Amino acid sequence: MGVYDHAEFDNHESLHYFHDDSTGLQTIISIHSTALGPAAGGCRRWTYANDADALTDALRLSRGMTYKNAVAGLKFGGGKAVILASERAPKSRELFAAFGRAIDSLGGRYITAEDVGCSVEDMRYVREQTEFVSGLPRNAGAAGGDPSPWTALGCLQGIEAAAKARLGTESLQGVRVAVQGVGHVGASLCHLLHAAGAELFVSDVSNENLNAVSAELPVTVVPPTDLLFSDVDILSPCALGNILTSTTIPRLRAKIVAGAANNQLATEADGARLAKRDILYAPDYVINAGGIISVAGEYYNTSSEDQVRDDVGRIRQRLESIFDEASATGQPTNEIADEMARSLVAAARKEK
Ligand code: NAD
Repeated sequence: MGVYDHAEFDNHESLHYFHDDSTGLQTIISIHSTALGPAAGGCRRWTYANDADALTDALRLSRGMTYKNAVAGLKFGGGKAVILASERAPKSRELFAAFGRAIDSLGGRYITAEDVGCSVEDMRYVREQTEFVSGLPRNAGAAGGDPSPWTALGCLQGIEAAAKARLGTESLQGVRVAVQGVGHVGASLCHLLHAAGAELFVSDVSNENLNAVSAELPVTVVPPTDLLFSDVDILSPCALGNILTSTTIPRLRAKIVAGAANNQLATEADGARLAKRDILYAPDYVINAGGIISVAGEYYNTSSEDQVRDDVGRIRQRLESIFDEASATGQPTNEIADEMARSLVAAARKEK
C-alpha cells in the first residue's frame, strides 16, 4: 500500500523519511496538521516488524496528536516521530544527534519530545542540534522536564471523573484498577492510584519495570496475556495501542477503560462496541494530555509548574462534559471527542 491510499492517511500535510548512515538512524516524521501551530508530538523508538508498520504507527499517532492538542487548547498542531529500533541503530548520543539534525531541517514545522523508548537524556542530545525540542531538564518551579508524571496526574484525575460517572463513587478507595504497562507513565500512575486507595493489578513485558513497581507498592502481578480481562472495576492501558478490538472488547470485565496509552481503539467502531457493553471509555487523547500540556508550557516558556498543574487539572472537566454528553445522547465518547477536535481544527484552518 502506498501513502496517499493508506487507510490512516487522513489528509496528512507531510511525511518525512530520514536516514543517517553513520548511526543507522531511520526515522519517519509525520506531520498531520499545522492548523493550530507547529506540529508537536513525542518521538517513539520501537522495534517494528517492517517499515509499513512504522508508517501506520506514525500516521495514527500524529493524527491523534492533532486531536489531543486541539482539545487541550494548545497552540500546537499534530505530529509524531518514530525511530525504527534495530541492532544496526543502537541508542546513542550520536543517534539522537542525527535525529535532532533531521528535525532541524524541517525548520520548526515539527517539535519533538520524549515518548515510548526515549528519555529526558535523549532529548538533551537532540537539543544540541535543534531548538525544536521540549521535555528537557528544567529548573525547580519551572514548567518542563519529563512529561510522564504530568500525563499520570491527568490520568488519575480522568480515572476519578470516570469512577464518579460510571461507578457513582467520589473516592478510589478499594476500587480495583488493572494497569497495563508500568513504564514512565504507568509506574507514576500506580503511585498516585495507591495513594488514592485503589487496589492495583499490573502487568508488563519488562521484568525490570515490573520488579521496580512491585518493590515499591503492594500490587498483584498478572501475566500480560490476562491483564486486559482481569476482574477489576477499571482497566488503565499504559503500554501500546490497538488493544481494544472486536476480539478483546467482548472479553473485558472492567466497567471503565481509562489510561495513558495512545490509540487504544483499533478502529473508531470499537468505541461504539465499548459503549454497547456499557463500558465507559475515557478518550485516550483527552485523558493523556497532561504531558503535552507540560511540553507546551516549557516550549513557549509561558507556564510555571503551578500553572501546568492547573492546566492539567482541566482534563477532569473536559472528560466530565464528554461523559455527560454521552450519557444524555448515547453517543460513544470517542465520537464526541473526535467531533470536538475536528471542529476546532476546521475553525483554525478557516481562520488561517
Ligand atoms: P514507556 O516505554 O516508559 O512504558 C511502556 C511500558 O509498557 C514499558 O514498561 C513496556 O515494557 C510496557 N509494555 C509494552 N508492551 C506491553 C504489553 N503488551 N503488556 C504489558 N506491558 C507492555 O512509555 P510511557 O512513556 O510510559 O508511555 C506509555 C503509553 O502512554 C504509550 O502509549 C505512550 O504513547 C502514551 N503516552 C505517554 C505520554 C508520556 O508523557 N510519556 C504522554 C501521552 C501518552
